[in-house]
Amino acid sequence: QKPVPSDIVISRSCVPKPIDRLAREVGLLSDEVEFYGKTKAKVQLSIIKRLQSQTDGKYVVVTGITPTPLGEGKSTTTIGLVQAMGAHMKLNVFACVRQPSQGPTFGIKGGAAGGGYSQVIPMEEFNLHLTGDIHAITAANNLVAAAVDARIFHEATQSDKALYNRLVPLGGGQRKFSPIQINRLKKLGIEKIDPLTLTDEEITRFARLDIDPSSVTWQRVLDTNDRFLRKITIGQSPTEKGYTREAQFDITVASEIMAVLALTSSLEDMRQRLAKMVVATSRSGGPITTEDLGVSGALTVLMKDAIKPNLMQTLEGTPVFVHAGPFANIAHGNSSVLADKIALKLVGSEGFVVTEAGFGADIGMEKFFNIKCRYSGLRPHVVVLVATVRALKMHGGGPTVTAGMPLPKEYVEENLELLKNGCSNMRKQIENAKHFGVPVVVGVNGFKTDTEAELDLVCSMAKAAGAFDAVRCSHWAEGGAGAVALGQAVQRASEAPTNFKFLYDLNLPISEKIRIIAQKIYGADDIELLPEAQHKVERYTKQGFGNLPICMAKTHLSLSHEAEKKGVPTGFILPIRDIRASVGAGFLFPLVGTMPTIPGLPTRPCFYDIDLDPETEQVNGLF
Ligand code: ADP
Repeated sequence: QKPVPSDIVISRSCVPKPIDRLAREVGLLSDEVEFYGKTKAKVQLSIIKRLQSQTDGKYVVVTGITPTPLGEGKSTTTIGLVQAMGAHMKLNVFACVRQPSQGPTFGIKGGAAGGGYSQVIPMEEFNLHLTGDIHAITAANNLVAAAVDARIFHEATQSDKALYNRLVPLGGGQRKFSPIQINRLKKLGIEKIDPLTLTDEEITRFARLDIDPSSVTWQRVLDTNDRFLRKITIGQSPTEKGYTREAQFDITVASEIMAVLALTSSLEDMRQRLAKMVVATSRSGGPITTEDLGVSGALTVLMKDAIKPNLMQTLEGTPVFVHAGPFANIAHGNSSVLADKIALKLVGSEGFVVTEAGFGADIGMEKFFNIKCRYSGLRPHVVVLVATVRALKMHGGGPTVTAGMPLPKEYVEENLELLKNGCSNMRKQIENAKHFGVPVVVGVNGFKTDTEAELDLVCSMAKAAGAFDAVRCSHWAEGGAGAVALGQAVQRASEAPTNFKFLYDLNLPISEKIRIIAQKIYGADDIELLPEAQHKVERYTKQGFGNLPICMAKTHLSLSHEAEKKGVPTGFILPIRDIRASVGAGFLFPLVGTMPTIPGLPTRPCFYDIDLDPETEQVNGLF
């Protein structure tokens, strides 16, 4: 077998077809497409209306067993599968994937366009700015952050009257409320919307949000792995008159606005979600929203282009939507509802849309079903569970696998004993998928060191564990041709009956919903709500957020809360440290342990290898 070149070399060796041609091929009309150069385009949401009577295609979600820190090839399999089904089986297909954060691209992980002969191209466009959606989120997020602190400052340094006079300025001799201010007056129950007749008490209520500075949960964001922004002090210039406060930066993809983008169904829905985001609590304990700050209309303006899915292509010319990329722990880790919906219409009733859920099935898939599908109303036909021999050996007791270090010999030599033990993790993740009533096809992503006996063992163990089918694939080394068997299995599974159901009812108490996920999906004996989490359960229930779905922030490296516990851990109590709310995106996120929300750079970051050839303008060194 010939060695497989680096991802960037493969990506560059293939000339992408002009994006206008691809747009025509998938059935887009010229006025529905906005071009961003020759290889990317945005699709207007008007298409949803045009295709509303079209029957949806089959909906396939790609997930994985509990991975090693290296990743087991979910993205690669998503792309390999659509290449197989589109270019080889001649079916209408679409892949829907997340836009990667630039933080990891320059940090440790490198790109996320798939790998080998299964990639989205051009991979440098995909991994870098794309069409600017992440930048738009950074801008919108930081506008909210600036609004929060400016408001606290202005309220602290002005009288009620002065504040009111500035909030409702004189224009042409008259004071006039803006539409957003009229909404606020209505929310406050102030009946007579006349700037001249407001009582002193009403002026105070209208003008003062009375934000408790220690309650601010809205953070600033940046799409860079900058560890020195994990804790900062803001307001240190004398112009802020001593109103300093400790704050932090998160990575942009952890912004609630990213989760809103991923879950929204229309411009109007996005406007509503962007208005409902809770940024802090008032001194009297009420939630302060972006609408209260008056900023939600401006946010919608900043996000108006980001809401349109981005069209790109695979190495074999099949279409891909790249849209949204929410963090997979403090957010739900799935690409956008809008991209999936549009793709399902475009492929037609005989076609397939393959979408990817981040992390392992206990996290990304659980959130895909309980959060994404709940909001979208879409019902999947097939789950593809990606498994690798190396990760299963790790679950069977193999030594620790570390990114950037050579693999220990257990992983490069045949070891059926370790592998057989480790299949317990695959069995549990198959069960997890079956809780939702959807057939599971296991795709065994083959590496060059895997032996025939090892690959066969994984397939037979998967079938014995209740998978609809289990097949070996070699799309990383061979492109779509290497995933045709997987494509055929997915096609057969899509005809099997499904009995889709959610894992929990939204109206259950918050702690009960968390307990169901912990026991049924992670295998915990029970949960323990630590005092802060207990306090938040009470607060959110009182504030009316108790019926939101749950988005667990847990390590992806174990079914339990302890990353080093492999296989299927048992006999543990899942500790819930705290619970936060993303009210606009529409979920509560319990924190299991501490989660870094902005990564740091290692000693030797990926950027050492990245450079531009000024002659050809080619990007070198991305992988
Ligand atoms: P995930 O989406 O599960 O995190 P990726 O698809 O991004 O995983 O793959 C992780 C890394 O492993 C990528 O660099 C990819 O190119 C590489 N990879 C995936 N499958 C294979 C394979 N079969 N052989 C060699 N490398 C692979």
